Amino acid sequence: MLATDGQSYDCRLRGSFRMKGNKSTNPIAVGDKVKFTLQPSDNTGVITVIEDRKNCIVRRSTKLSKQTHVIAANIDQNFVVVTLGFPRTSTGFIDRILVTSEAYHIPAVLVFNKVDLYNDELWEYHNEIKSMYENIGYKCLEVSAKEKINIDVLRAQVKDKITLFTGHSGVGKSALINSVDPDLKLRVGDVSTWSMKGKHTTTFAEIFPFAEGGYVIDTPGIKEFGMVNFSKEEITHFFPEMREVLHNCRFANCTHEHEPSCAVKKAVEEGIINETRYQNYLNILNGREMELQEWETR
Ligand code: GDP
Ligand code: ZN
Repeated sequence: MLATDGQSYDCRLRGSFRMKGNKSTNPIAVGDKVKFTLQPSDNTGVITVIEDRKNCIVRRSTKLSKQTHVIAANIDQNFVVVTLGFPRTSTGFIDRILVTSEAYHIPAVLVFNKVDLYNDELWEYHNEIKSMYENIGYKCLEVSAKEKINIDVLRAQVKDKITLFTGHSGVGKSALINSVDPDLKLRVGDVSTWSMKGKHTTTFAEIFPFAEGGYVIDTPGIKEFGMVNFSKEEITHFFPEMREVLHNCRFANCTHEHEPSCAVKKAVEEGIINETRYQNYLNILNGREMELQEWETR
């Protein structure tokens, strides 16, 4: 555990905590804020309080199991790393991550990386995509890990926050983390004891501190991130621009696909809701999901 004095201490849980975790296989996860008392005898801590989580990423222990494994908690922001060229991230992919992020109550920021590779055509496409997401309220950043464009902005944004980097393989998550803090790799050895290797689990997340404050959470793959269990009716609630109008649909259980007097369809026709976003919504609704192995985090 990293204490407020800046030191890190080996801590253990009192037995009672283990008993109470009825739905979750692990009572404590990376990102949890705790109180502990220090044992003077061996300078280790005993955790007395685990504070309420503002959010957490979970994985079900097995497909059929009701038990969940908490991968990480108290995440302040999800940096969705996107590249519009080399490779091109589809809006379907972006929207799937955004929906998951909304479902987990983790604010998402779109980080467009590799802008050094843009030609005029890609800039035009970029501006179109960017304004689509900005209109919904998502913050967008244009960066280049290679040419160090806006890395100072990125560094300021991660300061004092717990940040998750998501996006498919090859978009530059590692490169961005390294350019925010070039020494992170070197220091990683020091903090390996922070990882929460639950006794009965095979996966675990690690949390790494940035030199100037803040943390990045490293989880072994994003498969978990795509596994939020939401019902069909809930999906529109995770599209902020649809959430705003859906109370005007005639039917309370409207799927916004073919029902009459649908406020979402009307907003699409009027150009208030972007057609691309609506199509991506329909794809998620009908289970036309992308392959989960495409997902990754850093
Ligand atoms: P990850 O799989 O998301 O962690 O991606 P990596 O950080 O491993 O980067 C994938 C590839 O993209 C590497 O060959 C990087 O050198 C390259 N790359 C990363 N960021 C940039 C960038 O801003 N511009 C360019 N041109 N290449 C980049
Ligand atoms: Zn509707």
